[in-house]
Amino acid sequence: MKRVLVTGGAGFIGSHLCERLLNEGNEVFCMDNLETGSIRNIETFKENPLFHFIQQDVIEPIELRVDEIFNFACPASPPRYQKDPVHTLKTSVLGALNLLELATNTGAKIMQASTSEVYGDPAISPQPETYWGNVNPIGPRSCYDEGKRCAETLFFDYGRQFGTKIKVIRIFNTYGPRMDPEDGRVVSNFIAQALKNEPLTVYGDGSQTRSFCYIDDLIEGIMSMMQTDESFSGPVNLGNPEEVTVLEVAKLVLELTCSKSEIEFRPLPQDDPKRRKPDITLARQTLGWEPTVKLKEGLITTIQYFRECLRF
Ligand code: NAD
Ligand code: UDP
Repeated sequence: MKRVLVTGGAGFIGSHLCERLLNEGNEVFCMDNLETGSIRNIETFKENPLFHFIQQDVIEPIELRVDEIFNFACPASPPRYQKDPVHTLKTSVLGALNLLELATNTGAKIMQASTSEVYGDPAISPQPETYWGNVNPIGPRSCYDEGKRCAETLFFDYGRQFGTKIKVIRIFNTYGPRMDPEDGRVVSNFIAQALKNEPLTVYGDGSQTRSFCYIDDLIEGIMSMMQTDESFSGPVNLGNPEEVTVLEVAKLVLELTCSKSEIEFRPLPQDDPKRRKPDITLARQTLGWEPTVKLKEGLITTIQYFRECLRF
């Protein structure tokens, strides 16, 4: 049994991670400031004696004796991370610093939830880990993109300078049950709008692409990466290479919900990446990992969750 800290553990991905770690018999410390997460996400295992919830912001120093740390604290939806950009940057940079200090002092292994956003609006597709990216340092998305890039730098510098046991994963768009229906991301917006028979808001002409990974597949990849030996730190892309346009997602959601909603086109937000598709060769080779859940299949489960949440 390991003592494991999951920051952002009351969020979408973090809560699935807590659940998986508990199912494997670990003692789990979930640290969250509840900025975008919710107690409802951790309700089912709150009574488990091996689960501990600590309401704390990761920008404050942390003292805890643990064997492993998963640093997942950070709002992930563009409207949410842009609401208080300075705090978003602090979360990525000071959060990484505090947790790397903790890992270095305790000898714990530490994983950083990085993102495909480090590639910015990519000039090449698919994106391999060797691509350095195309990121605007001063735009509305920069607090997130540059914060995550700086966190990666801190991770690799701690690894080189202090021998900290680091793992870095770059997560591509992930969806599934426990997403907040109001967080403003494309999958949550489209499903919630379709269930309420409200217009689906497609930004731009909907020709921009994303590659959507179902949460269960991502959790498998995260667990495999944490178990790799010390010679492999990453970064490694974790995502589903099945690339779709945003308009295709809208149409698929309409079909699967049997909704009467129309599609409404809205202006494209500034710096919205035009393409995103992971090259997962490295994950296949080093982790033997690849996603297995098709978008249609994953959306059916997610729609079911939203129906229960929104009572539709
Ligand atoms: P989420 O918003 O559902 O979860 C983030 C959690 O972190 C929330 O519970 C929130 O309350 C908590 N949090 C935020 N700032 C905090 C702070 N300063 N201190 C303590 N807790 C804080 O988002 P998610 O989709 O579950 O994303 C989890 C992680 O994965 C994030 O680091 C995100 O950047 C990364 N990621 C997610 C995706 C995706 O598609 N979901 C893609 C790439 C990377
Ligand atoms: N998007 C959209 N309608 C919405 C929300 C998002 O068309 O209601 C688009 C957005 O402009 C982007 C894509 O969907 O091109 C994915 O957006 P999301 O916010 O989910 O994540 P991102 O990958 O941009 O961080």
